[in-house]
Amino acid sequence: MTVRAYRPVSWQLPNATMPGVGTLQALRAEALTCTRCPLAEGRTQVVFGIGDEAADLMLVGEGPGRQEDLRGEPFVGRSGQLLDTLLRQELGMGREACYIANVVKCRPPGNRDPLPAEIAACRPYLQAQIELIRPVVVVSLGNFATRLLLDTTEGITRLRGTVHRFGPGWLVPTYHPAAALRGGTEVLAGMRADLVRAKRYLSVDPPAGDGPDR
Ligand code: SF4
Repeated sequence: MTVRAYRPVSWQLPNATMPGVGTLQALRAEALTCTRCPLAEGRTQVVFGIGDEAADLMLVGEGPGRQEDLRGEPFVGRSGQLLDTLLRQELGMGREACYIANVVKCRPPGNRDPLPAEIAACRPYLQAQIELIRPVVVVSLGNFATRLLLDTTEGITRLRGTVHRFGPGWLVPTYHPAAALRGGTEVLAGMRADLVRAKRYLSVDPPAGDGPDR
């Protein structure tokens, strides 16, 4: 297991174009009427994020699916049920103890992958969420969240099993739960191991610590 160096995130807080993002409530209000990208046209509602606004653990997925679009909450379908189960079994916590958000806040039509322009348009919201919550550990779920947050083109299969310094804390990449549903026991076992790793890093103080496995 490897601890990799923190990569500075080059994103800028969207203060110039999103006045009043000093709180999550203000940011949510801004997002709920957002038309920054074409995904606004097909959504039922914006899926901003949910959970404890002072959470030590933040989970970042890809984007809302059909169920999420209808309910306005991330990870409420089969993937969400698996995620809830893994959170309970491997971290001993429910989703209410975390904060859960996505790379894009509106559902891509037909559950297609979000396009680069859509990710770029939406990332100030995610950046601001991370800045405001300041979690100790961010778990990126799947390729889109991991590539965006680590500013890399590497895939999740190569990146999982590593820990990265990230802002004031850590980032632990793992599979998206949908991949675990499709991928069988090996993918699921990898995801479990990553969540155990995330739990361990909740009690590691960066930047002084290099992590328990280094
Ligand atoms: S996906 Fe993000 S940027 Fe695009 S309309 Fe929705 S909230 Fe705005």
